[in-house]
Amino acid sequence: MKKCPRIEVNLEKLKENAKALVNLCSKEDIRSAIVTKAFCGDKRITKAIVEEGIDLIADARTENLKNLAEFKEEKLLLRLPMMSEISDVIDYVDISLNSEIDTMRKLSEEALKKDKIHKVVLMLDLGDLREGILEKDIFLTVEEILKLKGIKLIGVGTNLTCFGAVIPDEVNLGKLQEYAEEIEEKFNIELTLISGGNSSSVYLLGQDKMPKRINNLRLGEVILLGNETAYGEKIENTHNDVFQLVAQIVELKEKPSVPTGEIGKDAFGNVPTFEDRGIRKRAILGVGKQDIMLDSLYPIEENMIVLGSSSDHLIVDVTDCHREYKIGDEIKFNMGYGTLLRSMTSKYVHKEYL
Ligand SMILES: *Cc1c(COP(=O)(O)O)cnc(C)c1O
Repeated sequence: MKKCPRIEVNLEKLKENAKALVNLCSKEDIRSAIVTKAFCGDKRITKAIVEEGIDLIADARTENLKNLAEFKEEKLLLRLPMMSEISDVIDYVDISLNSEIDTMRKLSEEALKKDKIHKVVLMLDLGDLREGILEKDIFLTVEEILKLKGIKLIGVGTNLTCFGAVIPDEVNLGKLQEYAEEIEEKFNIELTLISGGNSSSVYLLGQDKMPKRINNLRLGEVILLGNETAYGEKIENTHNDVFQLVAQIVELKEKPSVPTGEIGKDAFGNVPTFEDRGIRKRAILGVGKQDIMLDSLYPIEENMIVLGSSSDHLIVDVTDCHREYKIGDEIKFNMGYGTLLRSMTSKYVHKEYL
């Protein structure tokens, strides 16, 4: 029997997704970076994607980029560098996203020590309120950066739809372009990387809406799952079942749909509520919250209802399913970003490449 729980990665479908996005981006002269964090910088997955014509590997974790050091593609660090990892950033990262001058001073110092020039992209906060300097501080910060000899300012970028859920559009990305051009003029430098966001910017492609100077997008979810993330639309010529979770039935019994006894808090401190559907056939699967996120786990089999889960158990109602289940049977799920992230991160979930 195959190991369970496991995640099955269809590398062929994944390559098609990557190709579709590379095509979409290159029509507008955009160089896309593959964001590897959702799959923990797995080498086989990274290789399958970069082979489709991607030459920039991006991750939030320096550990993952270090692990991918053998890849010749340039490495981009997405999360602002921590002071405690500066040395690794200089060793394993070509370009980092930054918003703090103190951090950039340290990067410059360390780079000079190692006889290197480290490239930086200045992040601008255009409303989402995660990372980035505010508009009023842009020019002063650039002035300071240009004094540092160990780093080179190669561009500006922004990140949207992550914390504040602000959708990228012609206005905020237009501002990014304007600031890039103002910086170039004011300081007489050339910015070669204008990074216009993540999978939520993809919907702007193909409709003459992406400001012309934007020449980079950092793409994770849209390549892995085939949907852009501003409106959740599926992208043409992509698959949304590249990653599937397979879990095994460890108990299968008919039980009442409402618990007996006084209801307190569940394993995660929530007070659950139950709908009385009478006696139902329930399967317990050997996978749980340590490996999945319930709100992004989608049964493939019709009429299956996900009832809930604890750390290591997932309970589904199979009463109305057509299949005759027995103990040991495998059940497959499609997944959204949360389950993808958690299942790829969980050491309890085996990885199989198809
Ligand atoms: C995670 C991340 C991305 C990729 O986001 P997706 O929605 O997966 O495309 C891009 N940029 C930054 C700064 C990130 O942290």
